[in-house]
Amino acid sequence: MGVPKRKVSKSRKGNRHSHIRVPAVAVRLCPQCRKPYRPYRACTFCGYYAGVGSRVLWVRRRKGEEETRSAQR
Ligand SMILES: [Zn+2]
Repeated sequence: MGVPKRKVSKSRKGNRHSHIRVPAVAVRLCPQCRKPYRPYRACTFCGYYAGVGSRVLWVRRRKGEEETRSAQR
């Protein structure tokens, strides 16, 4: 089995780890209510969705009543 010949220095380890990071969370502003939302997801505030196949219906239940909206295109 291969065995490392030398100890990996702090500098080398730091350089290698400099590429390891958590990717930034993508956020866009909703064109309808101007609040931040995740792309490719329906807006959690107003239900607006403008992705591929945008005939998505958003159903929001509020005190038993049902509100359905469709994306406008
Ligand atoms: Zn919205």
